[in-house]
Amino acid sequence: MTMNHDQDRRRVGQVKEVTSLSNPIVKDIKALAQKKERDATKTFLAEGLKLIIDAIELGWTIRTLAYAKAAKGKPAVEQVAAKTVATGGLVLEVSEKVMSSITRRDNPQMVAGVFEQRWLPLAKVKPKADETWVALDRVRDPGNLGTIIRTADASGASGVILVGETTDPFSMETVRATMGSVFAMPLIRATVDEFIAWKKTAGVSVVATHLAGAVDYRTIDYRKKPVVLLMGNEQSGLPDDLAGEADALARIPQQGRADSLNLAVATAVMLFEARRHLLTLDGGA
Ligand code: SAM
Repeated sequence: MTMNHDQDRRRVGQVKEVTSLSNPIVKDIKALAQKKERDATKTFLAEGLKLIIDAIELGWTIRTLAYAKAAKGKPAVEQVAAKTVATGGLVLEVSEKVMSSITRRDNPQMVAGVFEQRWLPLAKVKPKADETWVALDRVRDPGNLGTIIRTADASGASGVILVGETTDPFSMETVRATMGSVFAMPLIRATVDEFIAWKKTAGVSVVATHLAGAVDYRTIDYRKKPVVLLMGNEQSGLPDDLAGEADALARIPQQGRADSLNLAVATAVMLFEARRHLLTLDGGA
């Protein structure tokens, strides 16, 4: 898209130059490092030009765009700025120091954006035959969650359900670890009871992973029904109430001295196995 003069004129005057760390808008953006603020405003911060372009293209609402002075005039930045203004957002041209402070990095990206959070209600999740979903029981580590969202996206999964008290998918650390997939994967949150009630009517097969699982994960037929891969908490594994709801308790056979796999690694192994069944064994791509 090339920006026309009208857009250009509209945008001039709507770009605020900010160089002070005590600017109230800068303070508000910095506060998004805290979950309390993200929850209150239902927003979060994401960094990187490509990621922001993709997010806007996918229909995410950007409230504030901040770009470094050095990025001024770059066509892609100008386009994103024009789109931000066109959808009622605010555009800030900031000093390097302000950008570092917003993103809490020494070598910040040229562009950062404040986006509205999006949660898909569990009741709207109606998995279809060839879909694979991931459900995570009380995931604690932001890096694990980000990696799982990214891996779910890359494997062709349909979304990630967060069960119980979990780390925030919209924290800066998790968003970074998703490498943009936070904008591509539907996210759902549910209590244990809500998840169990949903499972009973959703027509899904819950394949839970457990160190004491009775079934080798490679012997499961993932094609009978839509699959929900249920993964346990990093420290304590899957609790009995959730494990008891599973249609299969799968184990990834291990060798060596490690007593378990890292949660994100185990999720990746399961996801690619389930998707392999659906894509290759079924004659698909
Ligand atoms: N101490 C925990 C336990 O006893 O379950 C270890 C949890 S492990 C780090 C986190 C999760 O990854 C597990 O709950 C399970 O969902 C999955 N996982 C890790 N290694 C696995 C394996 N070899 N087979 C099946 N699931 C595994």
